[in-house]
Amino acid sequence: MRFRNIRGDKRGVAFRDALMEGISTGGSLYIPEEFPILDPRIIEAAATPDPAATGFEVLSKFIDDMPTDNLRRIAGEAFNFPVPLVSLDDSISLLELFHGPTLAFKDFGARFMAGAMDYFLGEEERNITVIVATSGDTGSAVAQGFFGKRNISVYILYPSGKISPLQERQMTTLGGNIHAVEVGGTFDDCQRLVKQALADSDLVRKRSLTTANSINPGRLLPQISYYVSGYAQWKVREGNGTLPLLVIPSGNFGNLTAALYAGRMGIRAAKYVAATNGNDVVPEYFRTGIYTPRASKRTYSNAMDVGDPNNLSRIEAMYDSDISGMRKDITAMSVGDAATLDEIRSVYEKTGYILDPHTAVGVSAARSLIVSGGGEKAVVAATAHPAKFPEVIREALGIEIELPDALRRSLDLPKRSTKIEPELEEVKRLVTGGGE
Ligand SMILES: *Cc1c(COP(=O)(O)O)cnc(C)c1O
Repeated sequence: MRFRNIRGDKRGVAFRDALMEGISTGGSLYIPEEFPILDPRIIEAAATPDPAATGFEVLSKFIDDMPTDNLRRIAGEAFNFPVPLVSLDDSISLLELFHGPTLAFKDFGARFMAGAMDYFLGEEERNITVIVATSGDTGSAVAQGFFGKRNISVYILYPSGKISPLQERQMTTLGGNIHAVEVGGTFDDCQRLVKQALADSDLVRKRSLTTANSINPGRLLPQISYYVSGYAQWKVREGNGTLPLLVIPSGNFGNLTAALYAGRMGIRAAKYVAATNGNDVVPEYFRTGIYTPRASKRTYSNAMDVGDPNNLSRIEAMYDSDISGMRKDITAMSVGDAATLDEIRSVYEKTGYILDPHTAVGVSAARSLIVSGGGEKAVVAATAHPAKFPEVIREALGIEIELPDALRRSLDLPKRSTKIEPELEEVKRLVTGGGE
């Protein structure tokens, strides 16, 4: 399978090149040239959740420039945690994607990507620099996924004071090949700096610079596999009856893109629902047909505080930018902070289950749609473990959530980061001055 840039002005490249470049020269994103259909038996087998096996099957449809055994090994090492579909109540189920080491779904993409890059670099015996912007969870997943990879230096740009203390600890306490960069600005500033750095051909050449944001297809493709597993588990439980709304709490829309890719490959849903927080540029776009990117604002679900989502162009490319086609498959909804807290409270009171604020945005959207007759049942992607957001849980429920051991340990380690202004020159100085 080859990957072409969205503009389609160059020949397709192999997976290795799309992975290593992250984004095509000129700033256009890589997309697969086609969507292979999964054998129904493979989808059926995904019901006995074996994320490594499902991940391998899905990825092998796209990646044909790596020996099968290596791909199987990398998938096995990356997806070594479960993906259960659990019932919340009669109408809503959660696909729990947060059982990886940093307790958010981004572990799937970051761990596979680190393994695949490490493999290709070992072949080529060269070093690269990975730069990434984070609104919280990407940074921790990328930091943990890439930590200790010999040939890769990682720079993580995050908005100073705008991520949770725990998220910050998870990326600033590792050291070694992981460099945390605290940017005096917003997440959108961080994202812009990464795009600018990647558009600087001199810098890209000198440092072999690439990105681990969800603009990199190496992060996006592994995410398809858990939707296959979720759909398979749903079918075993519900038979051939109702199809669920598939609700994805969305920020940069990578996770929704992966769900839509899974749809092209054979899974089914009544509708794909993009649930955003108060950063509602996409719901507005679906309503009005006009896309107006804005500066992001801070909410309780900070990993979704995005004002100009990166992956929207990939979704538009699937529909030839036809908004009415997109509306047929996708519903986009915004959920505010107050409704998010309410949802955490009412679910806890009724069931004892603690939703993280991102998942709560999805559950709240699912509930409004079901109440208004927009669907019967829903599967919501549970994108993070609530322990990552103890401040929000305290505010919603008045309780202290217990931290898993790994998280508690990182809290005691010293924070190491470099503070910069949101200027490309400062990023360049860091990345080239590092000397290693
Ligand atoms: C990153 C993230 C999201 C948003 O995912 P996108 O692919 O950027 O839309 C939602 N929830 C959590 C917990 C996240 O970390």
